[in-house]
Amino acid sequence: MKKQIANWGNYPVMESEEESFVFADQLAELVKKEQSFIPRGNGRCYGDASLSERTISTLKFDKILSFNTNTGVFECQSGITLDQILIVIVPQGWFLPVTPGTKFITIGGALGSDVHGKNHHVDGSISSHIIEMEVVLASGEIIVCSLDSYPDLFEATLGGMGLTGIISRVKFRLKKIETSYIRQKQIKAENLQELIGLFDEYNKYTYSVAWIDCLKKGEHFGRSILMLGEHALIAELDEEKKKDPLKLPANKQIAFPFNLPSWVLNKFTVKVFNFLYYGKNFKKEINNIVSYEPFFYPLDKVLHWNRGYGKNGFIQYQFVLPLDAKQGLIEILQRISSEGLGSFLAVLKVFGKQESMISFPKEGYTLALDFPVRKGLMPFLDELDALVLKYKGRLYMSKDARMKPEVLKAGYPELEKFKSIIKKYNPDGKIRSVQSDRLHLTTPE
Ligand SMILES: Cc1cc2nc3c(=O)[nH]c(=O)nc-3n(C[C@H](O)[C@H](O)[C@H](O)COP(=O)(O)OP(=O)(O)OC[C@H]3O[C@@H](n4cnc5c(N)ncnc54)[C@H](O)[C@@H]3O)c2cc1C
Repeated sequence: MKKQIANWGNYPVMESEEESFVFADQLAELVKKEQSFIPRGNGRCYGDASLSERTISTLKFDKILSFNTNTGVFECQSGITLDQILIVIVPQGWFLPVTPGTKFITIGGALGSDVHGKNHHVDGSISSHIIEMEVVLASGEIIVCSLDSYPDLFEATLGGMGLTGIISRVKFRLKKIETSYIRQKQIKAENLQELIGLFDEYNKYTYSVAWIDCLKKGEHFGRSILMLGEHALIAELDEEKKKDPLKLPANKQIAFPFNLPSWVLNKFTVKVFNFLYYGKNFKKEINNIVSYEPFFYPLDKVLHWNRGYGKNGFIQYQFVLPLDAKQGLIEILQRISSEGLGSFLAVLKVFGKQESMISFPKEGYTLALDFPVRKGLMPFLDELDALVLKYKGRLYMSKDARMKPEVLKAGYPELEKFKSIIKKYNPDGKIRSVQSDRLHLTTPE
């Protein structure tokens, strides 16, 4: 079926022929039949990674295959969403080992981007929790890979943006929980210096993330709220919550009805931030017990919030800089705030050590920020790229729709190895995306 598609940033938008499948043997046939295609999950990457003239959607391939409630080993088809998984595992006392800031992604997409969460410094990215996966290659051949079997395919598929084949089945380990609640601590930081100090001081917390106000200048530059969390124990719940400690949160959502001018969303986020920052009696620190939903997925409450950036769409710019490049963080944030092209809020997280071939995370600070698409934006982002590279950082492919091939090359030292593995398993570049063509991953340089 031909239709207009775009990912979460609504940039770029294109026409694509979409195929889908329900049974495994249908998938192998589809792959053999197609001239070229890219696997597509729920389109929650922001840019052009799952866009192509032809896509194979996994969304109808969404069954749970096994769940051992004693060991927490879970096996499923790749098109199931994290949302669907949580509904089944949480009441049994298990949680996702790693989750991004939205639960509306497929597990196949989670592996394709090798997603990270607020616990990267403790638990690594999703790839650290995968036992094995089944991949359908460009030829239609089906391979089960793991650290021991076809390790090159295993490594290049995790974070490989769908370019080695379609992940069809995944087996992974869940995390044990006593309750579905999070013991949350929110701390206000007056500026970036204080925030970095707080990240260091509270580095034993499993989950941490900070929202930074990008409008503040001078001594309040980097004013922010650090949010820390741990899965709450039963003993920490009040009597009411103790009655049903693994209760699923109520799913109340509101929707953005149509595309709005980009300043509307900024105004909205300013209000939310100020409410949190100045609300609750100006306390420096807030400690409370909340359901996992508002802690992990605050943005999922507003369906289609991406429309708030207007019909031209937006770019989410996410980079990581090494821990010792704090000066780089300051320089980039200052550049962003002086240009005034970005959104009001930036999200900062810490990554622990990770040395994968092509995954985005490596030890350091990662910052993500939205930029509505408008005149002058692309050259400005090229300037930011130069700063990121100057401080030995790199960009996240899953958010990207515009980086140049040389920026990818400078940021990922094992890129050539990755390309050679793509060549081995996808020799004619049959599996390709708008992004992979732009970055010369599936076309000659
Ligand atoms: C609000 C929001 C918050 C987010 N927060 C985070 C975050 O905290 N951390 C983070 O890491 N990411 C985050 N993301 C990004 C998102 O988690 C990733 O882009 C994820 O890959 C999207 O999965 P999807 O199912 O929507 O796949 P798509 O967006 O459709 O595809 C993403 C990539 O995976 C590939 N792919 C999809 N399915 C398969 C498959 N079966 N086999 C092989 N390759 C496949 C695609 O080809 C593409 O390259 C966020 C996104 C949003 C919208």
